[in-house]
Amino acid sequence: MWLAAAALTLVIGLPLLHSAEDKKLTVYAAGKTYELAVADVDKQEYAGLAELLGPLGKFEQHASLGTFRLRLNDKEGEFSVGKKMARVGTVQLLLPAKAVVDHGRLLVPVRGLPGLLEKYGQKAELHAAGRRLFVGDAGERVGLEVKRPGDNLVVSFPAAVSPTISTEGNKVHLLFTKDPVLFWADSIAYTDKLFTQAKFIEQNGIAEVVISGNAPLVASLGDGGKSISITAAPQVAATSASQVVPQTSAPATSPASGPPAAAVQSNSSTAAPQAKAAPASTLVPFFVMIDASHGGDDPGARFSDKLLEKDITLAIARKLRTELSNRGITAALLRDNDSTLTYDQRAVATNARRSGTYISIHAGVPGSGVRVYTAMLPAESFEKNARPHGPFVTWENAQAGFLSRSQTLATALVMEMGSAKIAAGSAVAPLLPLNSIAAPAVSIEVAPPRVDSTIDSLSAAKYQQAIAVAAATAIANVRGKMEERR
Ligand SMILES: [Zn+2]
Repeated sequence: MWLAAAALTLVIGLPLLHSAEDKKLTVYAAGKTYELAVADVDKQEYAGLAELLGPLGKFEQHASLGTFRLRLNDKEGEFSVGKKMARVGTVQLLLPAKAVVDHGRLLVPVRGLPGLLEKYGQKAELHAAGRRLFVGDAGERVGLEVKRPGDNLVVSFPAAVSPTISTEGNKVHLLFTKDPVLFWADSIAYTDKLFTQAKFIEQNGIAEVVISGNAPLVASLGDGGKSISITAAPQVAATSASQVVPQTSAPATSPASGPPAAAVQSNSSTAAPQAKAAPASTLVPFFVMIDASHGGDDPGARFSDKLLEKDITLAIARKLRTELSNRGITAALLRDNDSTLTYDQRAVATNARRSGTYISIHAGVPGSGVRVYTAMLPAESFEKNARPHGPFVTWENAQAGFLSRSQTLATALVMEMGSAKIAAGSAVAPLLPLNSIAAPAVSIEVAPPRVDSTIDSLSAAKYQQAIAVAAATAIANVRGKMEERR
């Protein structure tokens, strides 16, 4: 049973860089947010007045001989290049510095924009240091609350927001490029077992909230985009981390001596942080992350009183781990018990382990046999020029660089199922958390073997075993291709 991908954009574990960016001013007006390029002229920041006024109403501009006439709705302003004195309607005003022209565009000092807009009948507030301009009633105050039990810090908003979220060690960065969020402090210090500080930053037209803790944190968007919940990241057991990272030679070939697979524990904010990514220079041995979908509070599909999808996915996942181990491939289960994990937690843990391949398992009807899914990425990830988040890979596009290998794996799985006389096909779908996995990634959905099979056949050990054998064989066959460019 599937859930469609959420419209949440996240950034993967990179520190945020602001230095190389061009200067810009973000304008928040009723129902719209737009950016103006900011230019430095004589140590003053300038922005284009036509670009500012254009989106705010009915707009017209006429220019001749160094004089610009800019009309917004019923008010016309007159500006002369090289002059501080200007007029809007019948009112004279003095700009903080002279108006200038650049490539035929009238530029005025950013500091003078609120006064100018007021003359045009628009109330405005400028946050000069952060280069954010709020027009009319735009602006939403952020709420912040630590909730117990649950050990989460909830950041709430009066209206839905679409932040870029990134994690960096024990910090979560919430980056607001479009949302008119307002802060009421520069920072808050917490005396809390998990959270230590919340910082509020306005910089180059962007608002940022940085939550620091004393363990790795993870964030998820909820309440229709009106709240962000931050909590401790799921922890990969220390024993499993030490199994995976130091091995640079071939993994153990004997299943008996193979390492027990890791399981991600359910959240605990008190334990020490352990889910650390290996340094980029470390050679990480090929490793398969198996994700038994659903679990804990989320049963998945309910086939009968006793037959739940979450139990079937776990049973198949364990069999797959054994079969991979039999083929000399190290594998771990994201959950090896009935714990509840969010899709973000699953992706975070998979990426933190630098998994070589990710395979999630679902079970469901209708249909028969096994359907293999690869990610359907947002259109923008294929547009070379679209860089909505600068140099960062967005959370929902993390899969972009791995898609062709994911499809290679899907094809191998379908072929191997076919060889084992299991009906199989592949498809592309916007499934969580595939888009956010930074590794070759597929989801398989297991249906009963034949259209006329009973639903109970999903729990038949022999059928589950046949699927695990075919999947492990397929992964072993394409392992070399999965490891390319890691
Ligand atoms: Zn499912």
